[in-house]
Amino acid sequence: KKVAGRYLKKEVLGEGTYGVVYRAIDTKTGQVVAIKKIRIGKQKEGVNFTALREIKLLKELKDPHIIELIDAFPHKGNLHLVFEFMETDLEAVIRDRNIFLSPADIKSYLQMTLKGLAVCHKKWVLHRDMKPNNLLIGSNGQLKLADFGLARIFGSPDRRFTHQVFARWYRSPELLFGAKQYGPAVDVWAAGCIFAELLLRRPFLQGQSDIDQLGKIFAAFGTPTTAQWQDMLFLPDYVEYQYVPAPPLRSLFPMASDDALDLLAKMFIYDPKNRITVQQALDHRYFTSAPFPTVPEKLPRPA
Ligand code: ADP
Repeated sequence: KKVAGRYLKKEVLGEGTYGVVYRAIDTKTGQVVAIKKIRIGKQKEGVNFTALREIKLLKELKDPHIIELIDAFPHKGNLHLVFEFMETDLEAVIRDRNIFLSPADIKSYLQMTLKGLAVCHKKWVLHRDMKPNNLLIGSNGQLKLADFGLARIFGSPDRRFTHQVFARWYRSPELLFGAKQYGPAVDVWAAGCIFAELLLRRPFLQGQSDIDQLGKIFAAFGTPTTAQWQDMLFLPDYVEYQYVPAPPLRSLFPMASDDALDLLAKMFIYDPKNRITVQQALDHRYFTSAPFPTVPEKLPRPA
């Protein structure tokens, strides 16, 4: 039995932030797709016109580094979003102990991540939920951003479902201090955490609570001073922390090249106004110096 007269539902791929994800066949094109069923019954306002308009914008956005939203339709009280099917994700790559990631491989994965983010930011859309399992990898090794724009349409996921513990590890200090107005720098911080995770092969800052997350950040980079970040004092949840000095970044990433470390440090600048932008990061010498990024087809992937 087909959904919307077009999609043949296959197995459940997993349960995500917004609902169940199925594998399906698009009978119109023969293409394998992933259908995300979004529970709208549970939401107070349901899917309003703003949400539908934004979904239409996402459908029009086509870029090699963004997962394509092929179709969107309501069905039995749920909103169905149809995406291109992707084989794996960056989390699976990072976790796979049989995979060796060379410096060139890490550079390639980070570059594709930043290229995807650059597309978002050029359209004035924040991703807001950057984490390795939202970076999907296709059969050709191409990495694409998933769940792009969904946070803005359906509300920030971390507040809605408690199983979303991982998202915390990628949260920027301004978000943890309760900033209501924030910008693309939150995605840069998260991308920095993903870069660090590629280098370390484990999540970099694994806070057990929001307070603990700030503690982990301060232990790595030192407590921010007002000289480093003036506006911090005015953030809603700002509290003074006991001063901790920053250890040398090199001591945390003994294997990273000097260029890698320089870029990493700039992605973790406390003041979001001074943090490197995605475009500046893409223009950093890390990407133009040897070793050059591995071509996607040659990137290691889980067996
Ligand atoms: P989360 O909200 O936790 O990030 P998702 O809703 O994105 O999770 O995805 C839930 C599950 O469906 C995951 O196991 C993910 O790997 C899988 N999935 C999501 N999108 C796709 C896709 N386009 N192709 C293949 N699998 C997907």
